[in-house]
Amino acid sequence: MTHTRRHFLTTGLALGTTIHSLRADSNSPMSKPLIVSTWPFGKPGNDKALETLNNKGSLLDAVEQGIRLVESDEKNRSVGISGLPNAAGVVQQDSCIMSGPGHDAGSVAAIEGILHPISAARRVMEKTPHVMLVGDGARHFAIKEGLESVEVNSREFHEKWHKKQAEPAPTKLPKDNHDTVALLVLDAEGNIAGGCSTSGWGGKLPGRVGDSPIIGSGLYVDNEVGAAGATGLGENMMRYCASFMVVEYMRQGLHPEEACLKTIERIAATDPKSAEDLHLNFVALDKKGRFGAAGTGSGFQYSVTTPDSSRVLTGANFTDKDIGPEGGNTK
Ligand code: ASP
Repeated sequence: MTHTRRHFLTTGLALGTTIHSLRADSNSPMSKPLIVSTWPFGKPGNDKALETLNNKGSLLDAVEQGIRLVESDEKNRSVGISGLPNAAGVVQQDSCIMSGPGHDAGSVAAIEGILHPISAARRVMEKTPHVMLVGDGARHFAIKEGLESVEVNSREFHEKWHKKQAEPAPTKLPKDNHDTVALLVLDAEGNIAGGCSTSGWGGKLPGRVGDSPIIGSGLYVDNEVGAAGATGLGENMMRYCASFMVVEYMRQGLHPEEACLKTIERIAATDPKSAEDLHLNFVALDKKGRFGAAGTGSGFQYSVTTPDSSRVLTGANFTDKDIGPEGGNTK
């Protein structure tokens, strides 16, 4: 399948001036450092990441501190310990971190009662020979590392979510019961890193793991090319190695926004589900300092921060109408 630039431009024009002007804006390299994250709730995390770099923190410190800030927000219903519980009333979190230099990664999945899963993921990367720890093993490792924890299986937790326990696990998702912070950093030296953190799909079966801790699905970083992060329905990211695909399209020369759109197009063209039901949203930045985002909902918002500004923008919108003649052929 070859990407048709003409199709992309047609799509871009059809999407209207907001997106057109956004692309023009993000087309020229931004000043570095550049930090891009999912959703408006990523913006304070971006600001924290920039502050960390300004205070001589490392690239990975910036990712970790930025995401920790979002995890700490008690009002956030989809990231951190205040996030959405699973069908048993327990918050199980997924998180990963990836470093461009050295191509290292660490992740934790279905971890319970750890306040900062991103810090656990970083420690898996830096202190073990492994990439991923899950469940009780991940929790014990995090506690041994001295990370803050709470007792999630307490009576209080069970009482709080008693009603939910009585409900069957959902088979179809309401639009607003899942979100992720994916935060990407390009530093002044041109090195790239990123991370993700989420409580995942509200009401998921206990033990369910989403895309966010899976390298290549919820996050991918290639220090020679760029980085991409995802938010949306993990099951639909994981079946396509979606963030890896975004980075590979950037490797082929596509602008980050084009790469996000092209990835959605390829998945939507292949998958029996409609674009809207797929719930796919991506943020991306490249080595040149360009950035972009796209999603299957009309209002996917993301946050972009440089030394000059910190803003919430709206990503390009993809619908089934945007599937081009070469977008796929299995529908
Ligand atoms: N991707 C996450 C998951 O499926 C949720 C989200 O980002 O909306 O666990």
